[in-house]
Amino acid sequence: MSKAVVSQLYDSEVFRMACKQFDSAADAINLPDNIRDRTKYPRRCLAVSIPVKRDDGSITIFEGYRVQHNLSTGPAKGGIRFHEHVTLGEVAALSMWMSWKCSLVGLPYGGAKGGVIVNPRELSLRELEHLSRRYMQEMIHFLGPDIDVAAPDVGTNEQIMAWMMDTYSNHVGYLVPAVVTGKPLSVGGSEGRREATGAGVAYLIKHYLIDMKLPIEQATVAIQGFGNVGSEAALALSQYGAKIIAISDYTGGIYNPKGIDLKKALAYLSYAKVLKDFDGGEAISNEALLELPCTVLVPAALERVITEINAPKLKCKLLAEAANGPTTNAADKIIEQRGDIEIIPDVLCNSGGVIVSYFEWLQNRQSYYWSREEVLSKLTGILDKAKASVEYQKRKFKFSRRLAALTLGIARVAEAKESRGLFP
Ligand code: NAD
Repeated sequence: MSKAVVSQLYDSEVFRMACKQFDSAADAINLPDNIRDRTKYPRRCLAVSIPVKRDDGSITIFEGYRVQHNLSTGPAKGGIRFHEHVTLGEVAALSMWMSWKCSLVGLPYGGAKGGVIVNPRELSLRELEHLSRRYMQEMIHFLGPDIDVAAPDVGTNEQIMAWMMDTYSNHVGYLVPAVVTGKPLSVGGSEGRREATGAGVAYLIKHYLIDMKLPIEQATVAIQGFGNVGSEAALALSQYGAKIIAISDYTGGIYNPKGIDLKKALAYLSYAKVLKDFDGGEAISNEALLELPCTVLVPAALERVITEINAPKLKCKLLAEAANGPTTNAADKIIEQRGDIEIIPDVLCNSGGVIVSYFEWLQNRQSYYWSREEVLSKLTGILDKAKASVEYQKRKFKFSRRLAALTLGIARVAEAKESRGLFP
């Protein structure tokens, strides 16, 4: 008889949301009690203080986390987020979703996530470098190519990955590119990694629109979050012929029913740093963007933006979850009851990022590098297979698409744990 664990450590709205999703999936596949909690709860976490000497000579202590949810199916894998609202509970929830995602698409990884409570825009480049290096230094025995492999997420980028990799390599005394992915090409990054998540999102949208018999050339798309994932998804979708009618960042959004000039938006962003005051359309709030009439809505920023308040007001036909956890469980239920919106759930929708991160890790370990075409064709091969298995599971058990994806991901992790047994 298993006793339910109630986690004090990770307790938060977003962690409870991830746990509830797990519970529904575990119930749906009758996951035995003796394996349930072992599969559900994170394996371990590390919290660190990160002192950074500021440009004015003062010292600020930042708090950083790494949560390794599952190490049963390979080294843990997951991004590092720099954001002022990071909490340990959020990092834990994101690490759970990484486990199900890696398992769903068949990667030999467990799941992890990291984060630092910081607004990176308030740091100078030197301060950001010190923060990134010190985070890696504090985590050094917790990370490694065979232990846990980091990557970029919200607020982190290729340069930060390069600093972290350099810190780790200096510590061991030789170059270890495979300790992080999402690096610049010059230090072992992979062709296609920068665009992988957004390109994967766009590829899945294209194929789901085909299934829905909606021509992509007539599709309109609203994207919340115009960072790495949102902007790459926008570029790939517009190449497929879709019209991007709204984009946003943390300062607000831009709406243009005739279609936004993405090149102009990116050029503006490169010097203004934010979309605010971009003249390519009319200003719109992030909340209003989500409720725009459009064919495809792509949340590509943070968790829990589609709630029970706005779910009844959504006017899209396809909701493509590029962000992790953008839809609350209550909103999910409302959308399911409405029955007029298809969802590509996060663990499938944004899996292109970790798939190409896996390719980068493989290339680093083999010191043998692939062409962009090779990377992208292997990526779409894996996405096709994952989509087909989700659709099969959905049909076979009459599950929602999210439940289909989660049950596949969770079942494989649970099976691995069962096969390995419990070390006494
Ligand atoms: P990013 O930092 O490059 O971009 C985030 C974007 O969201 C920025 O435009 C930012 O201004 C915007 N944003 C932040 N707060 C916002 C708010 N409150 N309202 C509206 N917009 C807001 O991050 P990213 O790497 O593009 O990640 C975006 C999402 O995709 C996250 O949920 C992340 O976990 C997920 N994801 C990223 C990857 C990856 O490879 N980077 C892979 C899988 C999933």
